[in-house]
Amino acid sequence: MARVFNFSAGPSMLPEDALKTAAAEMLDYGNTGTSVMEMSHRSDAFIAIAKDAESLIRELMEIPANYKVLFLQGGASTQFAMVPLNLIARNPAKKADYVNTGMWSKKAIKEAEKYGAPRFVASSEDKNFTYIPKLSKDMFDPEASYVHITTNNTIFGTRYRELPDTGDLPLVADMSSNILSEYYDVSKFGLIYAGAQKNIGPAGVTVAIIREDLLGHELDIAPTMLAYKIHAENESMYNTPPCYPLYISKLVFEWLKKLGGVKAMQKINEEKAGLLYDYLDNSKLFMGTVEKEYRSLMNIPFVTKNRDENIESAFIKQATAAGFINLKGHRSVGGMRASIYNAMPVDGVKKLVAFMKEFEGKNG
Ligand code: PMP
Repeated sequence: MARVFNFSAGPSMLPEDALKTAAAEMLDYGNTGTSVMEMSHRSDAFIAIAKDAESLIRELMEIPANYKVLFLQGGASTQFAMVPLNLIARNPAKKADYVNTGMWSKKAIKEAEKYGAPRFVASSEDKNFTYIPKLSKDMFDPEASYVHITTNNTIFGTRYRELPDTGDLPLVADMSSNILSEYYDVSKFGLIYAGAQKNIGPAGVTVAIIREDLLGHELDIAPTMLAYKIHAENESMYNTPPCYPLYISKLVFEWLKKLGGVKAMQKINEEKAGLLYDYLDNSKLFMGTVEKEYRSLMNIPFVTKNRDENIESAFIKQATAAGFINLKGHRSVGGMRASIYNAMPVDGVKKLVAFMKEFEGKNG
């Protein structure tokens, strides 16, 4: 069976280079006679892998020296709790401002409600999250401990074109579905977090990038494992880290560096997304669901113009048979969604568009 083009929202495709290296090193990593899965996390070989992973992501994202890079577990969903547990008490009233751009923002605020008094400052729910609300500095509570945004909304396919000006308030970003896909100035953020299973590596490792002055404000009730400070002090080795996902992430970072880094990747991502959006804008059968200005480069939801569920399910079925898998849309949007993360080749998108044109020819 040949490899297919996998348009899953995550876990998603990984670069073939990384998978091939992992396969070649599976039984014997670097003459250790063991696989990375079998190594002590305190061994020289593994510590070198972890250090390389950290220095590569630092280089790729140009992370300033006053930020810690943490490799954690529990996915972005654990970060929904870890963020307020560590940051909401920076202010005695335990206030925090969140922007509601979809399901993941709602899940994030729900956890914060357990530990403090967060509020939504803006929302795009009135139009089923098809845009990013306009934000200005005066909207934020000067007493808020932080402002939380979701830079890319995996389900609804929207993305911030520019970051909000939060003044002195730390900007906290869930970057799970677009980290490393486009350039961000890390110094604009207090904290960035992301689950790995889209643009970093396999599920199981979670990256947190935190400005050092934000460490040490955790609530007394914060479990040891959920205190950023503990992980920062122990260089992400307080307990056994997710060794194998971290190793694959290192291979993915090496691939991205070889390709030219984040800015080169962004150009490719713009080309890929452009191919699909151009087709959708000119199609008589399909259309995108998001306001143009806020379209994601990573997740592209689309529907049939007359919302014909029979045609949509026929499309998904035929696409799957032709080797374009996981195109079914999230239930809250319906229709289809093509997730085209970093590892999706340009060729995969070109072939999908050709397939869609052919389908349109038969069903338009
Ligand atoms: N935030 C965003 C933007 C996501 O896309 C996802 C997962 N798709 C999550 C959070 C939850 O991540 P996890 O499954 O790693 O907890």
